[in-house]
Amino acid sequence: MIQQGDFIELKKRLEEKNTGLVAVSKFQSLEKIHTLYDWGHRDFGENYVQELVEKYEALPKDIRWHFIGHLQTNKVKYIAPFIHLIHSVDSYKLLKEINKQAILHARTIDVLIQIYVGDENTKYGLDEKETLELLSLYEQQQESFSNIRICGFMGMATNTENIQQIVKDFKEMDALFSNMKLQFFYNHNHFKILCMGMSNDFNEAIEQGSSLVRIGSSIFGNRQ
Ligand SMILES: *Cc1c(COP(=O)(O)O)cnc(C)c1O
Repeated sequence: MIQQGDFIELKKRLEEKNTGLVAVSKFQSLEKIHTLYDWGHRDFGENYVQELVEKYEALPKDIRWHFIGHLQTNKVKYIAPFIHLIHSVDSYKLLKEINKQAILHARTIDVLIQIYVGDENTKYGLDEKETLELLSLYEQQQESFSNIRICGFMGMATNTENIQQIVKDFKEMDALFSNMKLQFFYNHNHFKILCMGMSNDFNEAIEQGSSLVRIGSSIFGNRQ
């Protein structure tokens, strides 16, 4: 696990770039999460619902939990009472269900749309055309999405050692983010998060305008 001095250094570097940090704690112990919590960190990311709920119950209640994995519609209800930000919305059906659960819990739930660029077809997320379709539907029916706020996009670069490819992917995501902001959210000041960058590519992501990085193994060490 990272040393406290190095962690504080990392946070300082990110702050200088106006970039937030989600510490990705999937498969990491409660002890390690608590250590980061004691160093003042509050944003943690998980990608399995059951693991997230168990950690939520066991850890301090002022932690801001981020859901970053693929989310099944029938599991939204378990995280709706407390989730801070859902990064992985990839369908209209899921958007509807999150809104419904948000109403049931009398809250507004912030979400990101998971976008997808590049040509690996193993990943979740919406391509440009699908993103446009979803946002058009959302815009037409905004009254029926009373308890949801779309705060931006989340994306992953191609899983490769090729830095040029990674930079190209981040540039594409940044362009899609700017275009969609102009087209659908120019008067919404909450649409401002472009979440990209993980342990192996967050430096490139920051250079390309990421506002929130998701870092797991570089902070916690290898997952158990
Ligand atoms: C696991 C995961 C991360 C963190 O990956 P690291 O390489 O450990 O930093 C980031 N984003 C998503 C969506 C993940 O599933």
